[in-house]
Formats: sequence, C-alpha cells, structure tokens
Amino acid sequence: MDFDWTREQTDLYERALAFAKARLTDPRSGPGLFLEQWRHCGAFGFLGLPIPERYGGLGLDALTTARLMEALGRGCTDTGLVFSVGAHLFACVLPILEGGNDIQKARYLPRLCSGEWVGANAISEPEAGSDVFALQTRARRTDSGYVLDGTKSYVTNGPIADVFLVYAVTAPSHGYMGLSAFLVEKGTPGLTVGKPFQKMGLSTSPIAPIYLEDCHVPEAARLGAEGQGAPLFKRSMQWERACLFGGYVGLMERVLEETVGFARERKQFKRAIGKNQAISHRLADMKQRLEASRLLLYRACWRMDRGEDAAMEVSLAKLAISEAAVQCGLDAIQIHGGMGYVAETGIERVLRDTIPSTLFSGTSEIQRDIIASNLGL
Ligand SMILES: Cc1cc2nc3c(=O)[nH]c(=O)nc-3n(C[C@H](O)[C@H](O)[C@H](O)COP(=O)(O)OP(=O)(O)OC[C@H]3O[C@@H](n4cnc5c(N)ncnc54)[C@H](O)[C@@H]3O)c2cc1C
Repeated sequence: MDFDWTREQTDLYERALAFAKARLTDPRSGPGLFLEQWRHCGAFGFLGLPIPERYGGLGLDALTTARLMEALGRGCTDTGLVFSVGAHLFACVLPILEGGNDIQKARYLPRLCSGEWVGANAISEPEAGSDVFALQTRARRTDSGYVLDGTKSYVTNGPIADVFLVYAVTAPSHGYMGLSAFLVEKGTPGLTVGKPFQKMGLSTSPIAPIYLEDCHVPEAARLGAEGQGAPLFKRSMQWERACLFGGYVGLMERVLEETVGFARERKQFKRAIGKNQAISHRLADMKQRLEASRLLLYRACWRMDRGEDAAMEVSLAKLAISEAAVQCGLDAIQIHGGMGYVAETGIERVLRDTIPSTLFSGTSEIQRDIIASNLGL
C-alpha cells in the first residue's frame, strides 16, 4: 500500500491551497461577492476538477479531485461557497459528462467549468426527500419532447443557476427505471424559481424551491436515455458523497490548526489552556476523527478510480466525515470558550456550516442503511 502523493498531486494541492487562501477568503465575503468568487473558482479549475481538459476541466481522477476539494475547504473559510462548488460540480456537471451526448457536452461543460454558468441539481421534492424514488414530478411525452410538471423543494444554487438538472418520472409503473433526467435552462417558460430560503449555515450558498408548470422541453433536453435518470443520479451521488466531503476534511484541518494555536496561546490559571489534559485530549480526539475520516475518503475514491463497487466505502466516508465535522464545530466552540460563541471570531459559523452535512447527499440514517444493506441486513 502506497500512501504517497505524486509530485504533480502535491504541487497541485499546494497551488490550490494557496489560491483558495489568497483569492477565495475575503473578509467581505457574502452573497454580493458570491459570483465574483465563483469566477475565481472557475479560473483556477475548481469548477471542473474531474472534467476532461478538452471541455475546460482539469481531468483529475476521483482521489485527486477529493484532495483538491480538501485544499478548497482548508483554504477558503466561506464553506457556503465550497458547498455550492461541490453541488454544481458533482450533481450537475459530472452527470452531463457521464450521460450527455456530444452536443450537450459541447454546450454545457465549457461554460460550467469556466464559471460563466452555474449549475444546479433538482431531485428532492416536498414528499420525496430520503425516499428519493417517490418523485411526483412528471415528464409527459409530446410530439416534440416532454412537458414537465412538479415542485422541487431544495435546489442549491437555484436562485443563480443557468441550467437545472431536473429528475422526473417518465414511466410511473417502472419504479427505479421509470425516472429520466432533463437539462432545463433558466428562462424556459414554465420554470419558476421560488423565494430563496434562509438557512442556519452555509449562508452564502443560495437555495430555493423551483416550480415546473406546463414546462415544455425538447427531446434534446433529455440527459441520457429515457429511464436512465436513476442510475445517473446514483452515480452523481457517489461522486458527491465522496469528493464534496473532501471540502469538510479540509475544513476540519483548518479548524484543528486554528484551535491548537488558540489552546497554546490562551492562558488561564497562569498557563496555556492546552496544558490541561481535558483540552489536549479533546484536540487529540479531533485529530483522530480527522485522520480516520480522511483515510475512509481516500479509500472510497481509490476504489472509484479502480472502477470497483464503492457504495459501502463512500457511505462510510460520508458518514464519518459529516459527523466528525459537526463534532469538530462543537469542540472548537468549547475550547474557544466565550470567544467561540460570539459571531465575530467565525468559530460558531463552523458548527452552523457543518450541521447540514449530515442531511444533504443522503442523511446519516440513509448512509447507515446503505452500510447495513452491504453487510447483508
Ligand atoms: C443545505 C441543503 C442543500 C440541499 N441541496 C439540494 C439540492 O441541491 N438538490 C436537491 O435535490 N436536494 C437538496 N437538498 C435536499 C436533501 O437532499 C434532503 O434534505 C435530504 O435528502 C433529506 O430529505 P428530507 O429533508 O425530506 O428529510 P426526510 O427524508 O423527510 O427525513 C427526515 C428524517 O427522517 C429520517 N429518515 C427518513 N427515512 C428514514 C428511514 N428509512 N430510516 C431511518 N430514518 C429515516 C431522515 O434521516 C431524517 O432524519 C438539500 C438539503 C440541504 C439541507
């Protein structure tokens, strides 16, 4: 077993980290700056990490993609931006690469990789969250294409997206094989973006419901064959559950470094608080959770790159990283004391930005279900 990165991977990671620190962490960061930062992400290549170079991406494998997401999450303190990049890349751009025809790839991939366009993925519905195959949105065939009708409840990047990857039922009696995927562009009559939601964290990442009412799309808007929506979605979730969570591994590394520094500096009872075992052991546990979840992530990606079934490894990694990240947020607040709780220091934001990671891309309960079913239960 070889734990070394190649010289190229190391150089790329260092460059990505330096770029994220210098260009993507702006103290003024907020919704107003979001699109400016988005274009910076495109300029570096973050918006097309695993997409072939001929379409404007960096052409990386899953392991190196996860490592670069780690650099992004470590260098960029705006986790909302990191999350939006991941949602765009793994749940919209990648399925276009994997399921698109030449015309679709040529139209969408260069724009989405450069940052000119923003992509979104719309599957969840009011009555279909974890039970993702209970979709009510219908795509009815017409002479020239399809008519889409339905509501999608949480669409990350929805308020600013140029293209939406929408999943809808084409054959209600066919279950898993009755879903199809469609690329619906902003401005298509019948597509309405609802009022953006306020969230407890990831505040710069815009999210909104979308409504499809008598929304006509041509046959050319279908991504992949009719009935191929579910396998496409499943595959995109595998990428998202693995590589997007590299961003959270990077976040944990940044927060640990910062918290160790604080524990060495902050003095109470005439000595650094880190000299108390109650504090140092908490930091040791943070380090252990970070490294354990990182190794699970690398192994999941390694299996993906070898073309092996990685369903269980991906769920193990997603579960470990998201739950470790929430605990990291709690630990950082506890060690910073009152300073951890006031908004000015940015520590409490870590907790708010990590809590949703146990919900999106399949909740922790759903990851445990996948692991259990892989154990034969
Ligand atoms: C920040 C954020 C961004 C998101 N972005 C997108 C997006 O871009 N596109 C998109 O389509 N969706 C998106 N989602 C939606 C997300 O995928 C869903 O929230 C998630 O799948 C859970 O669905 P739900 O919220 O309806 O919860 P529910 O499915 O109603 O679950 C509620 C609770 O019940 C539990 N539960 C459900 N079924 C079971 C079971 N069988 N066994 C045990 N427990 C169970 C769940 O784990 C959870 O704890 C986003 C969500 C968040 C929070």
